[in-house]
Amino acid sequence: MRLRRGARPAAHHPHPATSGTPTVLTGATVVLPTGTSENGRLTIDGTRIAATTPENAQVIDVTDHYVIPGFVDLHNHGGGGASFTSGSVDDILKGIHTHRLHGTTTLVASTVTGDMDSLTHRAGLLSELAEQGEIAGVHFEGPFISPCRKGAHSEALLRDPHPAEVRKLIDAARGRAKMLTLATELPGGLDSVRLLADHGVIAAIGHTDATYEQTVEAIDAGATVATHLFNAMPPLGHRSPGPIAALLEDDRVTVELINDGTHLHPAALQLAFHHAGADRVAFITDAMDAAGFGDGRYWLGPLEVEVADGVARLVEDGTIAGSTLTLDRAFKRAVTVDGLSVEDAVTALSATPARLLGMADTIGSLEPGKDADLLILDSAYELKGVMRRGEWVVGPQLG
Ligand SMILES: [Zn+2]
Repeated sequence: MRLRRGARPAAHHPHPATSGTPTVLTGATVVLPTGTSENGRLTIDGTRIAATTPENAQVIDVTDHYVIPGFVDLHNHGGGGASFTSGSVDDILKGIHTHRLHGTTTLVASTVTGDMDSLTHRAGLLSELAEQGEIAGVHFEGPFISPCRKGAHSEALLRDPHPAEVRKLIDAARGRAKMLTLATELPGGLDSVRLLADHGVIAAIGHTDATYEQTVEAIDAGATVATHLFNAMPPLGHRSPGPIAALLEDDRVTVELINDGTHLHPAALQLAFHHAGADRVAFITDAMDAAGFGDGRYWLGPLEVEVADGVARLVEDGTIAGSTLTLDRAFKRAVTVDGLSVEDAVTALSATPARLLGMADTIGSLEPGKDADLLILDSAYELKGVMRRGEWVVGPQLG
């Protein structure tokens, strides 16, 4: 099914989908992998970016705007009031669409800790959406995580990472498992990392109580991502540097950061960013149902969450429970609050996660032949247009 629930076709679509007519965006500041081009142009033909502009191309003047690649979210549990862990197919599509309206043109759907039966069932359902091209794949967050750093995961359902069970989840996703977050210091952790690496699934270290040394071992075994660095792991200490130092210092590791102003102090974010560089940072949302929806009561797996002023916390103990972030806000914050360059923010929101997913040939930057996934931002970094696979999801709304 190809439901586009929540789409608002007529009023917000002054320009038709480009599938018929090629389109050229002119006058823009275009962020390209080779550098930023002022007064640049970008041609879209069908679903792809084109190298040349056909004579019949429709011209859209986007002077005083940025054109950047669509965002890629590696870690996202839902949005628009819908959960990827428990929602129906219609709910999931609504959540995906909500994030598209905020610039996320590629999304990996994340599950939270559940029992093995419900997780394998969910993996099957999400893999169908991946086959249809709605999501890029599945990320399992838990159940193989540390009870000491469980965050908003149900303690009763946590388990040690037995490779046979890891294998069960990979198989249930029918080739669409992209990442699994685990506490690698638990019994079976390192064998599970090796198994994931052998199957081409990203082993992500997270919700972990590991020491520095244990984390180094896990990286050597094949782990390549830090799940929301700083959050749900021991803090950086000068005598016990813990996982943070090990994950930041190793070039083989990409670190996820939740740039919502709640999960991280700006100085912590900058420390990680300046140490790892844009090529090793992926900004993620870790969004839950309330993203793009509003305050209120929600469920995150089996746990009840109260969202107030955009901050999600477990009802039972106040633990932060995912975010209500969308990546357009993460981008604007990176540039206006964290002092990152537009180019670095673009890299951390598009090229780096696209490369991690093994999708750099088709997405992650504005190059001829790649998918026409692009965003238009005004000079205040507000989102004014979203194109995905050559079709406008939003706008362009040029004022
Ligand atoms: Zn998460």
